[in-house]
Amino acid sequence: MDSPPVDVDLALVGGGGAASLVLAALDRHRVRDLRVAVVDPVHRRGQDRTWAFWDEPGNDLDDLLSASWSRVEVVGPDARHALDLAPLRYAMLRSGPIYQRAAEAERRLDALRIPAAAGRVDDDGDRVLVHAVDGRLLLRARWLLDSRPTAPRRPGRTNWLQHFRGWWLTADRPVFDPDRAVLMDFRTPQPTRGVSFGYVLPVDSRYALVEYTEFSPGLLTGAAYDAALTGYRDLLGLDPARLTVSEVENGVIPMTDGPFVARPSPRVVRLGTAGGATRPSTGFTFSAMYRQADQVARAVASGRPPVPAPAYPRRHRWMDAVALRALDANLVDGPDFFGRLFARNPAPRVLRFLDGHTSVVEDLAVMRSTRLRPMVTATVADAAARIRDRITPARRPAWVVPPAVVDSESSGTDGSGQ
Ligand SMILES: Cc1cc2nc3c(=O)[nH]c(=O)nc-3n(C[C@H](O)[C@H](O)[C@H](O)COP(=O)(O)OP(=O)(O)OC[C@H]3O[C@@H](n4cnc5c(N)ncnc54)[C@H](O)[C@@H]3O)c2cc1C
Repeated sequence: MDSPPVDVDLALVGGGGAASLVLAALDRHRVRDLRVAVVDPVHRRGQDRTWAFWDEPGNDLDDLLSASWSRVEVVGPDARHALDLAPLRYAMLRSGPIYQRAAEAERRLDALRIPAAAGRVDDDGDRVLVHAVDGRLLLRARWLLDSRPTAPRRPGRTNWLQHFRGWWLTADRPVFDPDRAVLMDFRTPQPTRGVSFGYVLPVDSRYALVEYTEFSPGLLTGAAYDAALTGYRDLLGLDPARLTVSEVENGVIPMTDGPFVARPSPRVVRLGTAGGATRPSTGFTFSAMYRQADQVARAVASGRPPVPAPAYPRRHRWMDAVALRALDANLVDGPDFFGRLFARNPAPRVLRFLDGHTSVVEDLAVMRSTRLRPMVTATVADAAARIRDRITPARRPAWVVPPAVVDSESSGTDGSGQ
């Protein structure tokens, strides 16, 4: 691209989930007369992921959802809990409609698209200079919202991944109950280190997303994901002869207590996974991205800096660090840990906790539902590790995606079927 650098008010570097939600929110809040640029070598369109999340019905996502459920199930080895989510819902949103909405917003905002991989960013406190990876100056911006994949400031003390493969299954007769989504089904064989579960998100009686997920330190081979999914399909009693795999979805999401820096310099704000929107203990990200996009747009609409509140309270990040440590050290059994959370708390409390919206009193109730002794052990070990980290330089986690990598082969949807 040989065009000269431009001056904009707001530059979005990275045009994926977080940026798409910001564009949609700016449009929703009727922001106009703002010079906006989006820098991403990839123009995200169509289906490359499916977002599952919870929220309160009655927002601008309503007409984009593929499905939503007011009741979900958590299935353990011995018990099945039906959870009433009201007033919340569990929702499924495919990426296509969000990217489409972002594209419409981009047109109305008259935003500039720069199809390049951004490299160095220089913030002089008054404006931000964004360069391409080859060093060319791409643009100058008053504010930069950066959602390129990036590493935490320091390696996590626990570095797990949420990694999964899902099959979009089409059946030749009704086999799914569209009113019954399965949030977590722990009857899958458990890995030696980590937690596994399956889930079922039915769009209608013949069409559903069935996934196998692991929370663990390392990825599986493609054949191992397929074997795990085949096993889960059989566990569900689904007859392969009556099913077609119409799409395959793969994904890898960091689960780490390494701190993502949300404000690396005065005029640069990180959003999405890079900005800490991924909840370390679950990998859920969407709700925080949506919330922060709305905060950014509201701020811009009222002439304030586009700086959202932190994705999660500090005490919740600490609780997640302890939980990850307890799971990683096998102090707690994964299915038992998550099963107890849902069995011993009203589901909306757990979901609001995972959104970072619970009070200290509610947090204590959530903590009380876990097994006390192993969690105390993990808390002491976490404190000791914090002290150790202050005196010992740490290694970079192996899974970190360098910023220059623009797309991951291990994530997204491939429509080829199997
Ligand atoms: C397959 C999949 C399914 C998921 N499902 C869920 C779910 O159900 N619920 C949930 O809460 N979370 C889910 N997540 C996690 C999270 O919500 C998504 O990863 C989400 O897309 C994160 O948004 P983001 O903007 O941080 O990153 P991305 O959406 O990945 O966007 C980052 C963008 O940065 C661009 N980029 C990279 N390098 C550069 C560069 N040098 N210059 C400019 N641009 C660059 C990329 O091209 C990309 O478009 C899922 C993730 C995956 C991968």
